Amino acid sequence: MEFGFHMPVDLIFGTGAVSNNAKKLVLGSKALIVTGRNSARISGALDDVVSVLTSENIDYYVFDGVMNNPTLENVSKGASFGRENGADFIIAIGGGSPMDAAKAIAALMTNDMNPIDLISTVPKNQSLPIAAIPTTSGTGSEVTPYSILTVHSMNTKKNFYSPSSFPRVAFADPAYTYSLPYEITLDTAFDAFSHLLESYLSKRSNYFNDVIAIEGMKAFAECMDALNTGEITEKTRESLMYSSCLGGVAITHTGTTIIHAMGYSLTYFKGYSHGRANAMLIGSYLDFNRTAQPEKVEKVLSILGFESIDEVDKYFMVGMDKRPVLDDGEIDKFTGLAMGQGSVMQNPRTVKADDINKLYRELFGGKG
Ligand code: NAP
Ligand code: ZN
Repeated sequence: MEFGFHMPVDLIFGTGAVSNNAKKLVLGSKALIVTGRNSARISGALDDVVSVLTSENIDYYVFDGVMNNPTLENVSKGASFGRENGADFIIAIGGGSPMDAAKAIAALMTNDMNPIDLISTVPKNQSLPIAAIPTTSGTGSEVTPYSILTVHSMNTKKNFYSPSSFPRVAFADPAYTYSLPYEITLDTAFDAFSHLLESYLSKRSNYFNDVIAIEGMKAFAECMDALNTGEITEKTRESLMYSSCLGGVAITHTGTTIIHAMGYSLTYFKGYSHGRANAMLIGSYLDFNRTAQPEKVEKVLSILGFESIDEVDKYFMVGMDKRPVLDDGEIDKFTGLAMGQGSVMQNPRTVKADDINKLYRELFGGKG
């Protein structure tokens, strides 16, 4: 048995995580709080953070301009704001969008570089330290080094990461997700599941990581009925956050595969949320990879409590009538963009452009 495992984030999980661990939030003398328009406020996380910073006598500035699926321009603006105010550490509050934006801002604040270069180079200087506080249970970004940024010049989303973009500390408090609307709860839960699934089947998976992925998928499975009916209890919120954190740890070691690579265009061009885009691909992904990982695919079916991949596909289409229809030009364009994502290399079955094209065509060619 051979494997490596590195998880440098100090993860604090549970209700009251911020208030009960005040000292751990203080990573410098002046904080830049990075968040979206509403999530930090309505989740209650901002109040808890401000109350800790006030009692610890730490100055702070709030950048609440992070958009969903943040762009290079958006993070650049956040970095300028942080620099103007002399912040020396970052507190990210929100879903994947603010947490990912914070990682890019943390790198841009210590490196005089063009934001587009984040995609192709590892910044020379260490990023500012980050405390991450998730308010969705989906991306697991609080425990990953990844920052997914929308790059308009490339017509897609691209992944930036560096060894210093792991958050220093993460406060995962399920209570911050109580305010999440049903739709976003569903979409983000599906994103977390796709991380666990793709990591489990990845060419880079290993025994140790499998244990994490399986545990995360089991936690997700406990929530499936609630996600279906919309009757989401506090216990469900806790399990969803647990599965999301496990998903983040899992993809830190393996990356994602073709679900994420193919899903980005459904978000960028068609406006589907990240989790929804992935969910529409899960059934076909299992089918396509069955020959490469037959035992693992069976294990996933048994964890989910389904006998067939058709049942899995139907489940992940909850709340959707049908898939969008793409024309031939779109299918060819999306195929090229998916093949340009490094994550296709980790797919359990080796993929060529023809395979991706066929998968898009079968799912979105208007015949289904
Ligand atoms: P998100 O884009 O961060 O947030 C979606 C929406 O939910 C926003 O409108 C947000 O409001 C709202 N929201 C967040 N928390 C809320 C709460 N507690 N109550 C009410 N509303 C709330 O969604 P996400 O799915 O968590 O993140 C998606 C992004 O993460 C994508 O860009 C994706 O590519 C990326 N991602 C990153 C990783 C990684 O490893 N880093 C992995 C997968 C995906 P506000 O606008 O006010 O914030
Ligand atoms: Zn994802």
